[in-house]
Amino acid sequence: MTAIRRLPETVVNRIAAGEVVERPAAAVKELVENSLDAGATRIDVVVRDGGRSLIAVVDDGCGMAADELALAVERHATSKLAGDDLSAIATLGFRGEALPSIGAVARLAITSRPAGSGAAATLTVEGGVKRGPAPAAHPPGTRVEVRDLFYATPARLRFLKAAATEAAHVGEMVGRLAMAHPAVGFTLGDGTRTTLKLPPVAGDLFGGGLDRLAAIMGRAFADNALAVEAERDGVRLRGYAGLPTLSRSTAGLQFLVVNGRPVRDRLLYGAVRGAYQDVLAGGRHPLVALFLEVPPGDVDVNVHPSKTEVRFRDSGLIRGLIVGALRHALAATGPRTATTVGAALVAAAGGESLRPHGGGFARSGGGAPWRPAAGLADTAAAYQAPLAPPPGAGGDVPPLAADVDDIGRPLGAARAQLHGTYIVAETADGMVLVDQHAAHERLTHERLLQAMADGGVKRQVLLIPQVAELDAPRRQRLIAHAAALAALGLAVEPFGDGAVLVREVPAVLGDVDAAALVRDLADELTEHGEALSLAARLAEVAARAACHGSIRAGRRLRIEEMNALLRAMEATPLSSQCSHGRPTFVSLDRTALDRLFGRR
Ligand code: ADP
Ligand code: MG
Repeated sequence: MTAIRRLPETVVNRIAAGEVVERPAAAVKELVENSLDAGATRIDVVVRDGGRSLIAVVDDGCGMAADELALAVERHATSKLAGDDLSAIATLGFRGEALPSIGAVARLAITSRPAGSGAAATLTVEGGVKRGPAPAAHPPGTRVEVRDLFYATPARLRFLKAAATEAAHVGEMVGRLAMAHPAVGFTLGDGTRTTLKLPPVAGDLFGGGLDRLAAIMGRAFADNALAVEAERDGVRLRGYAGLPTLSRSTAGLQFLVVNGRPVRDRLLYGAVRGAYQDVLAGGRHPLVALFLEVPPGDVDVNVHPSKTEVRFRDSGLIRGLIVGALRHALAATGPRTATTVGAALVAAAGGESLRPHGGGFARSGGGAPWRPAAGLADTAAAYQAPLAPPPGAGGDVPPLAADVDDIGRPLGAARAQLHGTYIVAETADGMVLVDQHAAHERLTHERLLQAMADGGVKRQVLLIPQVAELDAPRRQRLIAHAAALAALGLAVEPFGDGAVLVREVPAVLGDVDAAALVRDLADELTEHGEALSLAARLAEVAARAACHGSIRAGRRLRIEEMNALLRAMEATPLSSQCSHGRPTFVSLDRTALDRLFGRR
């Protein structure tokens, strides 16, 4: 060991840079945050080679005078902490670390002119060596250029991914910041081409803000999102939550903003997961854009140099607010599945490619027009002959009185059942196709959960207790939950070495294979760990088991039964999807139907 020494400033800054500017997107984030803190109304970002050769951020914010410029690149120099109080930070920056860190690992050039001043100045820092400030020409505002990022730290340089990957990270970062600040106009480009152009949005999130949301998260989100708004103890939550049937396999489209700061916070992600856990499978992630306004004193942003994590004084309050507001929004939605589901159906059926090209369907390249073969034509004609009146009815059959009503309902009037599986219903402006098993399963699930929540699960004592054979770990896990399960209407007890005995099952389940039910439940307990509540898991498994009995068997349903199922779905919150987020029905409006046949 050599003697202890104080590290030179440049080394200190390079160490800090390791955390503050992890990759080009992080540098962009720091610079854009500075522009936002400077009150910019317009921010232009240019990134070349994924940020490796050039990052430039230009704003029309308050700017800096020559002497301030010199100070701005010093370590721990900031204009954002008026006092020495770290407990109520209202700006995005406060650590005074970004500019010196970037200056230590890249070639940094800042040109700035304060608002209301005629003089601009420029200053450079290359690998920690400062030059300037010198007079320059520049409009009011600031231009920061970062060239050759990480040239001074080759180890870090080697970790950079392909330019396209880094550019994608930059794009996502700019999107997140732009989402949090809709009043500011943003552009992102590579110097020759503009890849993202977001004009400033007037009005709030629920007015013009939705345009920006759609620009960043896609039209599908804007079309399939529920407004969320809640307030408790001075904490305000607003935003949009996507329908469960619009889920993704990653959390990349979850935008969480705390006091104007985009964050990736585990508590918040966890709250979102919790809110959707009953309508979405574990591996699926909903799309959300949520904005929290918390009194600055109640949230600590000084957790990590990159400031993307936060600590809440009362994390239970925040979690409860998010879970409650999202669940309320989901439950308050009538029957609705994502429009993307119907669109996918049309696309899968070739609806798009069937669009006429100029002269209609001239695919056969001339020749005789298509005509059904002789035999087919006869058969087709037979279908067009008027139907024989049903026995007992005379002449015209008037529609059932209920029918007229039903058509106006969200899920329409049942018309037919296909393959003992699907129900076709006619709605006011299109049609609905229902997966009757999924729907029935979900209804049973919800009914069971409701009964459990009300504390009134009626139990049914089995005439002959059933024996379910289980391996040791499953058996133990089940027995460990025996008391809780009994409260939910399922009575199991140990039976010999390799089995359990089922004495009672929840009455709602009717005639159910109790042994299969507990075996499924034991599997479920293994798979999901502790993510779902026991009640939710039992409800899920029990609902599945219940369906094996009745509708599941592919029984022919009468029209009244089908309509009863549709009405029950409309009346039951969360019945639009199964617990894995798959839709229980698909709706196609007239436009979609027309598209299917190339009429539009
Ligand atoms: P911090 O943002 O934490 O204060 P930075 O190193 O990012 O630290 O910036 C240092 C200081 O430089 C800021 O406090 C601010 O006064 C000034 N500054 C940086 N960027 C700009 C900008 N775009 N416009 C005006 N002032 C800026
Ligand atoms: Mg800063």
